[in-house]
Amino acid sequence: MITGEQALSEILNRLPPSRIETAELSAALGRVCAEDVFSDIDLPPFDKSAMDGYAVRSEDLKRAPVELEVIGMIAAGQQANYELKPGKAIKIMTGAVVPSGADAVIMKENTEPLTNNIIKCLKGVRTGENISYKAEDLKDGQQVINAGTRITASAIGLLAAVGKHQISVYQNPRVAVLTTGAELVDITAKPQPAQIRNSNTYSLMAQFAEMGINAHSLGVVKDEPAKLAAKVNEGLQYDFLVLTGGVSVGDYDIVEDTLKKAGVEIIFNKVAIKPGKPFTFGINKHCLIFGLPGNPLATFVITEVFIRAALVGFTNCPAAKRPIIKAGISESINKPYERQQYLTGWLEQTETGLTVRPIAGHGSADLVSLKDANCFIIVPPNTTIPQGEMVECMLIK
Ligand code: AMP
Ligand code: MG
Repeated sequence: MITGEQALSEILNRLPPSRIETAELSAALGRVCAEDVFSDIDLPPFDKSAMDGYAVRSEDLKRAPVELEVIGMIAAGQQANYELKPGKAIKIMTGAVVPSGADAVIMKENTEPLTNNIIKCLKGVRTGENISYKAEDLKDGQQVINAGTRITASAIGLLAAVGKHQISVYQNPRVAVLTTGAELVDITAKPQPAQIRNSNTYSLMAQFAEMGINAHSLGVVKDEPAKLAAKVNEGLQYDFLVLTGGVSVGDYDIVEDTLKKAGVEIIFNKVAIKPGKPFTFGINKHCLIFGLPGNPLATFVITEVFIRAALVGFTNCPAAKRPIIKAGISESINKPYERQQYLTGWLEQTETGLTVRPIAGHGSADLVSLKDANCFIIVPPNTTIPQGEMVECMLIK
């Protein structure tokens, strides 16, 4: 049996090469950027009024209240063909070019019209007030986003502003999910005695969706070698084939054998973690095969810990990692256990700092404790932990 760390490096050592493609910006949300992007303009591109009001010389307003003659108007989108002389003002709209000679904009609300072309400025203005200066946000040629960044909604506007209408992104792995188990029934059915609803297909598809991957479900097969072999052959065409169920030592746990017959090289079939010991991993050409135990919590943990890490490597996206942070544990863990454990936990900020509370569960099938958790508490093997000690927690929400 190998450790979780060894299992992880066995997987990462076998990642297929990343692939790059071009995405339209409108379809790039959630994708991982494969290029450093630089601005092709200054932002703002010109000295810009931040208010509706009047472009003025702050010097003129030192004696406010003061009257100024309005010599023209500049709307957003118009060129500013004016030179502002002392004692004058130019009406200006938000987003319009500030004319030369002006060094501030007084808000319309701080003025009063006296005649058609005379205003009274009720207050003074600071030099630069209400002006967004050319290039104050970003300079022409400056870097906007690094390769390896996941493209979020908060970055899309900036990429649009610098004209990045197409962007180089890492391809996501093509992922197939294959569910096995003779006892499984569809979620539309009420399970008969000895049956259980297939929840893993749904949770796996959702986990991949959270990773930005639209996985393909190959459906459910009973524990029948011929049918399983046919589906496995289909799944080997993908980058990652993820199976659940049938990887343990029971008489009907036929996944490993079927994989071998399909030409898969099994790299490991037991990992010293809890839940998830019978985790099986193999490779066939460029396809990585993850055989997960059927217990839903084990399936979930392995997907977060190992398959997510493979995705991070495949798409070169460190941001896709689940953060691991330290928190003080609210109660002691008294029983040492020989394997590394992932316990469901609730992590929150309290008066004494970050605190994590283990959620009582009933083992590796307990979906209820998982639903209530926002992290996994990582307990090293053969270790007890006194109350208050700092433990590593992997955030899952
Ligand atoms: P196995 O890994 O096939 O030995 O299954 C371990 C446990 O997980 C058994 O209790 C199965 O009934 C359960 N199980 C297997 N596959 C699923 C699934 N797709 N959804 C929910 N439970 C499952
Ligand atoms: Mg089974």
